[in-house]
Amino acid sequence: MIGLRHRNLKLFTVALAFFAITITSFLLNYTQNSVLDMWNPEKYFHFSGPLARFLASMRRPCGCETCVSEMDISLWFDEKFNVTFSPFLTKENGFISESTYKWWTRLQGERNPMDINKAMEELFKVIPGESSLQDRSPYQCRSCAVVGNSGNLKESDYGGEIDSHTFVFRMNHAPTEKFEKDVGNKTTHHFVYPESMRDLPENVSMVLIPFKTLDLQWLVSALTSGTINFTYAPVPRRIKVAKEKILVYHPEFMKYVYDKWSLHHGRYPSTGLLSIVFALHICDKVDLYGFGADSKGNWHHYFENNQAAGAFRQTGVHDGDFEAELIGNLTSIKKISVFKGR
Ligand code: C5P
Repeated sequence: MIGLRHRNLKLFTVALAFFAITITSFLLNYTQNSVLDMWNPEKYFHFSGPLARFLASMRRPCGCETCVSEMDISLWFDEKFNVTFSPFLTKENGFISESTYKWWTRLQGERNPMDINKAMEELFKVIPGESSLQDRSPYQCRSCAVVGNSGNLKESDYGGEIDSHTFVFRMNHAPTEKFEKDVGNKTTHHFVYPESMRDLPENVSMVLIPFKTLDLQWLVSALTSGTINFTYAPVPRRIKVAKEKILVYHPEFMKYVYDKWSLHHGRYPSTGLLSIVFALHICDKVDLYGFGADSKGNWHHYFENNQAAGAFRQTGVHDGDFEAELIGNLTSIKKISVFKGR
């Protein structure tokens, strides 16, 4: 009799555990998206206070406290942010509309360009043209440090903090060697165009920002024959980057940044702004370092001694003031955080 009861108890415990595991995994899988979408109480009731915050957290698209891609926080942001645009050019999305193409080839006044479809075909014979960077999980918190080149990084001591991010984006000539204390030494992605290309450490992904068809041809050449060494300025004949580590910024995405984010200010968006919007699309949390003037109003680079150099602000190509205002707006709605340095 006691033996039978014991067996029943065991069976009951196993069944209970099975039931609990099934329910928990069902909830984990579906709570964040489907269940609350199917049964969206906020459609029918108005919640406020902690309950409203709890319901919002259940629907969050990422595992951070707040997620960049979360909508319904700022109408201004929702009208700009278009998740359907892919930041990178891949074999699958290698299409450039006529209007974007016209705009894009004018950026650096390209004359007699190679056929763009042919250029992309040649490109994807050399690089894989795939990326899983946009794949996300609601349980992960991907933090990104976007590191601009401002002199305000000097003596900032931000190095450790920058390196603690999942991804660290740097750009153009940005060195880390000898500046580790202020800028860190981790880089996951380095944004360049042919004329700003420098030697990159192994394991760093290169993100090529093409401003003309020749830039795509240069990439192919730099990985194969080494025939191109000049565009409008000298460019490296060869680069030492693993082909699987190369991403190409999509011209359609660049046009989207120009239309929606920089609202046609300047001839085209700066490398900094292009990297920031790229980050908004692939990161859950975005922290900016090295953007803007230093506390004395200088606009130089952290790796230059000449404070009067006025780098970036007076390029005549980008609208530095408008981009600074845009960064301010994104900060005020808490989509990004800016670390101003010194
Ligand atoms: O000068 P460079 O284009 O290489 O710098 C990279 C980016 O860093 C710029 O596009 C700009 O967004 C940012 N920057 C800045 N303030 C500076 C220097 C650079 O905001 N003083």
